[in-house]
Amino acid sequence: MMKQEKKRLSVSALQNGTVIDHIPSKHLFKVISILGLNKISNQITFGGNLNSETQGKKAIIKVSELFFEQDDINKIALVAPDATLNIIKDYEVVEKKVVQVPQSIKGIAKCVNPKCITNHEDIPTKFNVVTNNDEISLKCHYCEKITDQEHLYIP
Ligand SMILES: [Zn+2]
Repeated sequence: MMKQEKKRLSVSALQNGTVIDHIPSKHLFKVISILGLNKISNQITFGGNLNSETQGKKAIIKVSELFFEQDDINKIALVAPDATLNIIKDYEVVEKKVVQVPQSIKGIAKCVNPKCITNHEDIPTKFNVVTNNDEISLKCHYCEKITDQEHLYIP
């Protein structure tokens, strides 16, 4: 009862914008970085280490006056495959979106292979997404080395 009430209040605090929920807490800042939220002037509030019944600790981000394209949303599948987005208009949730794991990813993560051409020349990285038991890893288009979750580095 209390929980439900709290949730409703925190979402309705946003007049227009997007609430990104169910982010693993440890990946909060990666999501912010992937979506470029650190580079915009929109009002952003976020919270980490919130209790979640299904996920352990989760994080939530609220961005005012910003709506994402599905392609943008899918980029966060790397670190937050279970994230959900609530689109808010006039304090109401008008749409819910879920993250879909994309087949390929360009220019977000770095290749784990130090000898890879993308680490030496000014070439954007490109990966095919490989899913194995819910774990997402990236296979480099150029050197074919696998970058797994543990080695995932997002500049
Ligand atoms: Zn590579």
